Amino acid sequence: MQIHPRAIIDHAALRHNLACVRRRAPDSRIWAVVKANGYGHGMVEMGTTLETADGLAVARVEEGVRLREAGITKPILVMEGFLFDDELAAARAHGFELALHRPEQVALLEQTRTTRPLRIWIKVDTGMHRLGFDPQQVPNLLARLSADPQVAGPVGLMTHLAKADDPHDRLTQLQCDRLRALDPAAHYPLSIGNSAGILACPASRTPWVRPGIMLYGASPLIGRTAAELRLRPVMRLATRLIAVRALRRGDAVGYGSTYVCPQDMLVGVAAIGYGDGYPRHAPIGTPVLVGGRRAPLIGRISMDMINIDLRGLPTARVGDPVTLWGADLPVDEIAQWAGTISYELLCRVTSRVRMEHREMHPMPHGGKRL
Ligand SMILES: *Cc1c(COP(=O)(O)O)cnc(C)c1O
Repeated sequence: MQIHPRAIIDHAALRHNLACVRRRAPDSRIWAVVKANGYGHGMVEMGTTLETADGLAVARVEEGVRLREAGITKPILVMEGFLFDDELAAARAHGFELALHRPEQVALLEQTRTTRPLRIWIKVDTGMHRLGFDPQQVPNLLARLSADPQVAGPVGLMTHLAKADDPHDRLTQLQCDRLRALDPAAHYPLSIGNSAGILACPASRTPWVRPGIMLYGASPLIGRTAAELRLRPVMRLATRLIAVRALRRGDAVGYGSTYVCPQDMLVGVAAIGYGDGYPRHAPIGTPVLVGGRRAPLIGRISMDMINIDLRGLPTARVGDPVTLWGADLPVDEIAQWAGTISYELLCRVTSRVRMEHREMHPMPHGGKRL
């Protein structure tokens, strides 16, 4: 029997969630976002199953290179663009589409003369104030880049939403209006919607959208569960009980003795901890599933183990499966307990956790599973 923590990755759920994006934004083309190792699910495996997306989006050139090396031939958008000319050269060699967000990138692009024109997206800062050009700079840039033989096809305009997780916040509509105002005649491809925008803000359903978290089956919206949004979790993080102990009233459990048994009680120990990516900040009371039934954590999270209050589960046995998140235990709920967001929990599952891919289509010819 396998006691290693495992992340079971449900590719049927991934395809279902992609279909949800299509239903919500039927007129949009989809950049499926697979950055950060596919939000922790395996970038190449996600990219392979997302073959019916129109393209894949990553943050960095290096991530795109890994997709190409695995045999993926779809369009790839690099959302942070490039920093130095070696990255620009790699982007050209692999035919990536690049988002440009500062003047030095434009200058570098114009300096290097090659026979391989690139597709370019101008990243516009419409209110997030992280990356991007000011809207006033855009008309000039559009003219410059559109005339540049280094640039293939129409230049795209993209922006990123800062507060779309809150459907009542007016900034989202304002950001959409600011981007759309730059292209009143609809000459250029626009890209706004992230998952939250796609679900809650129609103005962000531009000709290209960039969903990430919803593909993996977590909710991007405050106060809405993934189940309400008809999304299915792609990852189940699971392990097993490796001990069941009968402790006495007054016994303190784990590092720091933070939990003291209020009565004689059964306590389970499961083989997973922060060394596997389970959040160390998950407090006493955070739920897990033991054999499919809820039980609360007690004590501190260790590197390799967690303690579980088994008072409600007197028949629990060593070897029983323990689910940390997945169907019936939304990762969003665990994130809330741990004071973070699903994105972080999913991304930081460590390489010590074995990834098991279920219902995966064959890899592209020559592709190797990473
Ligand atoms: C990560 C990212 C996305 C996807 O966001 P989700 O909230 O996961 O849907 C879209 N666009 C950009 C620029 C990103 O960095």
